[in-house]
Amino acid sequence: MADHNVDLFVIGAGSGGVRAARIASSYGARVMIAEEYRVGGTCVIRGCVPKKLLVYASRFSDEFEDAAGYGWSVGKREFDWATLIANKDREIARLEAAYTTTLERYNVEIAKSRAVLEDAHTVRLATGARIRAETILIATGARPHHGTPIAGENHVISSNEAFHLKELPKRILIQGGGYIAVEFAGIFNGLGCDVTLVYRGENILRGFDDDVREHLMHELGLRGIRILTRKIVKAVEKVDHGFDICLSDNEQIIVDLAMFATGRRPNTDKLGLEGVGVKISERNGIMVDAYSRTSVPNIYAVGDVTDRINLTPVAIREGHAFADTVFGGKPTAVDHTKVPTAVFSEPEVGVIGLTEKQAIEQLGKIDVYKTSFRPMKATLSGRDTRVFMKLVVDGNTDKILGCHIVGPDAAELIQVVGIAVTMGATKADFDATMAVHPTAAEELVTMREKAMSYGRAAAE
Ligand SMILES: Cc1cc2nc3c(=O)[nH]c(=O)nc-3n(C[C@H](O)[C@H](O)[C@H](O)COP(=O)(O)OP(=O)(O)OC[C@H]3O[C@@H](n4cnc5c(N)ncnc54)[C@H](O)[C@@H]3O)c2cc1C
Repeated sequence: MADHNVDLFVIGAGSGGVRAARIASSYGARVMIAEEYRVGGTCVIRGCVPKKLLVYASRFSDEFEDAAGYGWSVGKREFDWATLIANKDREIARLEAAYTTTLERYNVEIAKSRAVLEDAHTVRLATGARIRAETILIATGARPHHGTPIAGENHVISSNEAFHLKELPKRILIQGGGYIAVEFAGIFNGLGCDVTLVYRGENILRGFDDDVREHLMHELGLRGIRILTRKIVKAVEKVDHGFDICLSDNEQIIVDLAMFATGRRPNTDKLGLEGVGVKISERNGIMVDAYSRTSVPNIYAVGDVTDRINLTPVAIREGHAFADTVFGGKPTAVDHTKVPTAVFSEPEVGVIGLTEKQAIEQLGKIDVYKTSFRPMKATLSGRDTRVFMKLVVDGNTDKILGCHIVGPDAAELIQVVGIAVTMGATKADFDATMAVHPTAAEELVTMREKAMSYGRAAAE
């Protein structure tokens, strides 16, 4: 017998779950949400938000250095990690409370508990309480995954622990080549640590445009980040003053801390999914249709647990679309193409749409425009850095298929470029847009010379 009946039970109060619960409730559904850790989920508690705060902290060192060329003399600089972490924790607690208040304002009942499926309509809480729900939404997110176990792995931290270190390490080794690894490399580098990035592939940021990857790798090198590719960490041993890291080529590196950012795994284990027939993929993600419905008709899943595009705005959009579909009478499928995204490395990366390689494979006839230049601020500061921009254009329709930026404020830029690209802007539209001078962004509307053309007959 269920102790309680609801229209919707949401498992996981992160980006996707909170949005879905709130919108479903606004349509009149009785909603309950379970959270086993902290309301807000990964993004708010140990993802995007605390990460961006640490990125801000790490960037002051450049500002102090660059100021000299502009006539400023900055006195002795000191950085206190404990102050940063305490202030960050206060802000995260404030946001968690704000999320809780929002849910309460929308009459969503919150169960601070782990929840698992007992059958297709029943959820069980840690207390043993059973809740019967017409519809169940799984929004349990993902967690760091270290891959094949190695000796001494218990000494290695993930991004979860990086937000709560007691002290700032002097020397850190980060394994991974994805955006989280690259971002933390930038954070620790900016805060003055000696950073080694180890990645098993040929180049960092797999899946991004090759020019972006090349450019960023070069820029990280200029900043003193040591990047070791085609290697992996074989073993980690605790020694007197830190950890002895043994790499696959037997190189040994002594560091104060080792962090792995080698991927994330959907939280599908021990949820009771198999028992009720919810299908999961080889990569452990819950399989869903365009409306986020699983193989069991009344069970839906959104966000990272579905392993589609693992980003906060995507999880939010999926949660909202689910609520519109099931409780709002407006069947809504989320468009997963043209998702703008950023890497908060130093320098930043902002991208939307197809890479050059993808465009060639998918369309054949494409034009590529690209530019690389020294940003104006670097002239007086003397900083050795360049901005990179690239447009991938459909050779038949002139539509912008992809835009790729590496440089200051690339994340902010790509959000705005994203509007134009989503609306179907053409290269001619970009050319017709008046430049804003002097900016770096004006290069986006003043690139005239094709760097490459693919798929055209020689005579064209
Ligand atoms: C270090 C880091 C940086 C990131 N930076 C960015 C960024 O800059 N931009 C961006 O867009 N994305 C970023 N992301 C990704 C983003 O955080 C996720 O895509 C987003 O949080 C996914 O939302 P979600 O609702 O699917 O899951 P989550 O936000 O992970 O929420 C899932 C919730 O479910 C809870 N839960 C799990 N199992 C159960 C259970 N059985 N019972 C009850 N509760 C349960 C978890 O405790 C968690 O709170 C980052 C992630 C990390 C790790």
